[in-house]
Amino acid sequence: MERVVDLRSDTVTRPTPEMRRAMAEAEVGDDVYREDPTVRRLEELAAEKLGKEAGLFVTSGTMGNQVAVLTHTGRGDEVLVESSSHIFLFEAGGIALLSGAQPRPIPGRHGILDPEEVRRALRPPNIHYPPTSLLCVENTHNRGGGTVTTVQRMRELASVAHQAGLAVHLDGARIFNAAVALGVEAAELAGPADSVMFCLSKGLAAPVGSVLVGDREWIERARKWRKVLGGGLRQAGVLAAAGIVALEKMVDRLAEDHANARLLAEGLVEIPGISLDLDTVQTNIVIFDLDPSWMDASTFAGRLAELGVKCGAIGPQQIRMVTHKDVSREDVQYALGAVRRLARE
Ligand SMILES: *Cc1c(COP(=O)(O)O)cnc(C)c1O
Repeated sequence: MERVVDLRSDTVTRPTPEMRRAMAEAEVGDDVYREDPTVRRLEELAAEKLGKEAGLFVTSGTMGNQVAVLTHTGRGDEVLVESSSHIFLFEAGGIALLSGAQPRPIPGRHGILDPEEVRRALRPPNIHYPPTSLLCVENTHNRGGGTVTTVQRMRELASVAHQAGLAVHLDGARIFNAAVALGVEAAELAGPADSVMFCLSKGLAAPVGSVLVGDREWIERARKWRKVLGGGLRQAGVLAAAGIVALEKMVDRLAEDHANARLLAEGLVEIPGISLDLDTVQTNIVIFDLDPSWMDASTFAGRLAELGVKCGAIGPQQIRMVTHKDVSREDVQYALGAVRRLARE
């Protein structure tokens, strides 16, 4: 069989045999009646790992983020978001469409927000201004290249927000990548935030689902919004079972993905026509630019795919590659070989 190295995203990971077994054997019930023991176990485990009181299983990261904004805000509120964040750029306008809130973008450095910039964006009550009720932080930051916000920075950001009466939502789709990269517990990164969403279906390799965590009363309100969005699932324990395996077994191995991303980036940076800032390669995402005199990103992605390596063209000249459990060190060497071949042609 021909080799295919899929570096488009860590969402392409397949469930492990242990996950499939757990799914087949999961004890289930109707989760809208709160009678699915496996979903409850996942929610409790997730809350415990992130140091929060309660959890809510949601179908996707997007649903988790949107339920969070719905629960934290009201119509006409202002929500502070990082200008290249997922919640702002890649959720189909959900903040405006669903919450009726207005996102206000603040540029970070490679996606990492500066508390002083957040402070400057805050405005006193005034008849002309919308009330600002929420700050969203993304860790790791996807479009920033998988960059990590430290515990200290997280505390500073939350402190600025809380002093001004804003809630803090952490889009922690890849929070465990951040925790592993920093060598801290995910709960430390989550601590300063009022709510956190993380994905089971990315590097943790579960087939479906994300979890939203927060305090008990807040999660009960979020549960209602999840129902409104059609996310009240029935025997969802078959899905949650894989999520439990993801949380218990798949976190520590993320370090391998980070080492592979590093190896990939160090190889790519040597190839003429590629510009890549190695400082941004902190976890499992590698983003780089192609010299326009060489070729554009969609041509590059198309030609690389012919050589068995899939990547994402995320801008006219920009490429994203993501490492994950279904990409080995040898796959990374193979991918580098394919890019070198393109560079020689
Ligand atoms: C993938 C991602 C999401 C959304 O998750 P889906 O499950 O794809 O809806 C949200 N935020 C970030 C930072 C992501 O990378």
